[in-house]
Amino acid sequence: MDMNMRVKAVVDLGAIRDNMISMKKNMHENARMAAVIKTDAYGHGAVQVAGALEDLPFLWGYCVATFEEAQELRQSGIKKPILILGYTFPYCYAQLVEEEIRPVVFRKDTLKELDETAARMGRNLAIHVALDTGMSRIGVKPDDSGIDFMKAALACKNLTVEGIFTHFARADEESGRDATQRQFDLFASFNKRVEEELGYHIPIQDCSNSAGIITYPQYNEDMARAGITMYGLWPSDEVSRDIVALKPAMSIYSHIAYIKEIDAGTPVSYGGTFTAPQKMTIATIPVGYGDGYPRSLSNKGNVLIHGKRAHIVGRVCMDQFMVSLEGIPEAKEGDLVTIMGRDGDETISAEDIGRLSGRFNYEFVCDLSEKRVPREYIR
Ligand SMILES: *Cc1c(COP(=O)(O)O)cnc(C)c1O
Repeated sequence: MDMNMRVKAVVDLGAIRDNMISMKKNMHENARMAAVIKTDAYGHGAVQVAGALEDLPFLWGYCVATFEEAQELRQSGIKKPILILGYTFPYCYAQLVEEEIRPVVFRKDTLKELDETAARMGRNLAIHVALDTGMSRIGVKPDDSGIDFMKAALACKNLTVEGIFTHFARADEESGRDATQRQFDLFASFNKRVEEELGYHIPIQDCSNSAGIITYPQYNEDMARAGITMYGLWPSDEVSRDIVALKPAMSIYSHIAYIKEIDAGTPVSYGGTFTAPQKMTIATIPVGYGDGYPRSLSNKGNVLIHGKRAHIVGRVCMDQFMVSLEGIPEAKEGDLVTIMGRDGDETISAEDIGRLSGRFNYEFVCDLSEKRVPREYIR
């Protein structure tokens, strides 16, 4: 490892690929996969992750959250379908048509504008419909008003309803079984109504997220949308670790910037929230909340140095924090610091960081600064 670097995140693209293959083994043979790579692939790098997955035969395409995320993928040469999971604002409709980026639709005004845009361009645009079965976030209702919306969508000459999806609110909770079943039943019966009453079979029907892929393979339908598990992280502590084998893809490293001894009674960092109870050796780590390392790890978090745990003392600053070197007398300035990942027999997971910081693993990886934490890719 380059001793000159302040901080970096190493992303194992091979692990991401293996995680996808491992999840696919828990799905029925015909179910395809969509890789959810919103928020720059949960901080792992959307272009690199998409590039590493593009040739997987069971991969239908990618899901992102915004038009700009979709466009970045197209500009990088990604050819498979891209679906925008949230509301897409009208300023980019012509580019959606141009670049064959699928929007999710659930408002009638969107249908009209998209249809007119595609008509003007003499093209057809594939769309997916969002069905709200229990998130109360986006989506048409699985009742007569939803059927009415589907009718309007099918009447748009320049739009093709390629897919319909719903999103599970509680698939990652043991107590969420009934709620998840209810959501699935609403989804399946709505799609059946579309078939019977409107005579249209929606080609891609999908409802599973990561937790669904692991816990409810019977609900996978035509496709599943894999997010957090693709990165080797877990949707929650309540999802079984025994069904699908996953390997965390990201590790974060730094180096010790400075080591000093402090006397008993010496305060450490802003506010003096930690005071040395005895003479101590303290290392300064050149990483902070400006990099996305949670300030709430102040006096709580830890890092690995020489395979041993070094605990944070005092507040995490914007660019630096301090750890106690108790039990690690061999530590020197310039030594490797593992902020997330494995060192010897010890590991710090995104889940550990999420729990200790009072946030959660998804948030930690998404918040890692793109500008300040360079990503390095291995296969
Ligand atoms: C983010 C998102 C996903 C992926 O969720 P994970 O829990 O990371 O698997 C799937 N579907 C929709 C609609 C989403 O917004």
